[in-house]
Amino acid sequence: MLRIDMPGGVLIIKYLVLDFNGTIASNGQIISEIKPLLVNLGKIINIYVLTADTFGTAERQCADLPVILHCLQSDNHTAEKGELVKSLGSDNVVAIGNGRNDLEMLRIAKIGIGVLGAEGLATQVWQNADLIVPGIVEGLELLLNPKSLIATLRQ
Ligand SMILES: [Mg+2]
Repeated sequence: MLRIDMPGGVLIIKYLVLDFNGTIASNGQIISEIKPLLVNLGKIINIYVLTADTFGTAERQCADLPVILHCLQSDNHTAEKGELVKSLGSDNVVAIGNGRNDLEMLRIAKIGIGVLGAEGLATQVWQNADLIVPGIVEGLELLLNPKSLIATLRQ
């Protein structure tokens, strides 16, 4: 687990929930610089990757990484992503995404992070996130260095 000592109380983060395309992957390929970051984070928290697998590449791309791949089954990806965060116990979840269908999972998660990557960030997601990062590398580095995260989120 990841312990984040906020001035108002301690956050215990057990799960990281990641959107795939536009967040950790571009054109169906995982951004190579983040692989070592995922390996390090996988030692302390459980990582879920949620995807509709538009490019049919997710399983192979995630094969060597410490992540649990969840392929979306329903017609309502926004609700399905939010329900998964709820089922994990939203108080213990950090969620990272970029697309409009990430809105619910970012809103429900204890910490919702919007990624302004190469594929853009939906405005509604921006408005429902706790913080915005310029790219997924910076987002994952914040989790590996929670002091910076605390500095950004404290009131
Ligand atoms: Mg996306």
